[in-house]
Amino acid sequence: MIDYHIHTEHSIDAEGSLSAFCDQALRIGLKEICFTNHCELDPERSDNLIRWNGSMVPITHEGVAALYDAIHGIADTYRGKGLIVKNGIEIGYFDGIGPRLDEIIRGLDLDFVLGSIHCLNHVCIDSSKEYTGYFEHRRAQALLKEYYGAVEDLVKSRLFDSLGHVDVYKKYGYGFYGETIGDFPVEQVQSVFELMARYDIALEINTAGLRRVNEIYPAAPIMECARNAGIKKLTIGSDAHRPGDLGRGLIDGYAYARSFGYDAVCGFTKRKAYRVPI
Ligand SMILES: [Zn+2]
Ligand SMILES: [Zn+2]
Repeated sequence: MIDYHIHTEHSIDAEGSLSAFCDQALRIGLKEICFTNHCELDPERSDNLIRWNGSMVPITHEGVAALYDAIHGIADTYRGKGLIVKNGIEIGYFDGIGPRLDEIIRGLDLDFVLGSIHCLNHVCIDSSKEYTGYFEHRRAQALLKEYYGAVEDLVKSRLFDSLGHVDVYKKYGYGFYGETIGDFPVEQVQSVFELMARYDIALEINTAGLRRVNEIYPAAPIMECARNAGIKKLTIGSDAHRPGDLGRGLIDGYAYARSFGYDAVCGFTKRKAYRVPI
């Protein structure tokens, strides 16, 4: 199995060294992992940080390049032990990110760039500290419309290889709004997914939802929508923020993908996808 969504201690909300994750990957029998630390760049927020040698420092090209080099080094070490390690990143998308993102990752030969919506109007809707500040002012349907509008912008930017945890709003949405947060705007989502299919952007199956709301991201009706829209590529990840969560739920995630007719997930080398049968 492969795990393509992993945060190490270099993400400010995660813990565990690169080698701790690699050792855990070998212990649980993963064949391939891809590190995808956070890269939050919205200048209106205070989370444009990475952790380096135990200190949180502003995210810069030099910092991300140093992490990139460290992952390459660890990949060399673990190749001989039978583990493939890929060099990826998770970008929190916001409108206008393009030039800043280019400045940060320019010249880095990343294997995989995952794009996610964490914030709407500069508020992080998957943060326990922030979500009420956004949800309080909106009904569920208004939130969903805005959220999928942001997803559409992300897709149209064509900056990303895969779309992360697409219905992450349900993490706190179920508690705040109840079941109605599951009533996603079908036509809007269908048209965004058709665009993803046309641009050949993958959809992520993210098993962190199992740990949060006992439900994989994306929910089954959204997966059906993806299949009907012609999305061919999936990526899969545990979204682990500590070594003990690495690979958690992947067996269920693989079965989930198969249940919608998919027979492979994607791995990436230098942003070129390849099939990993499931
Ligand atoms: Zn994320
Ligand atoms: Zn993540």
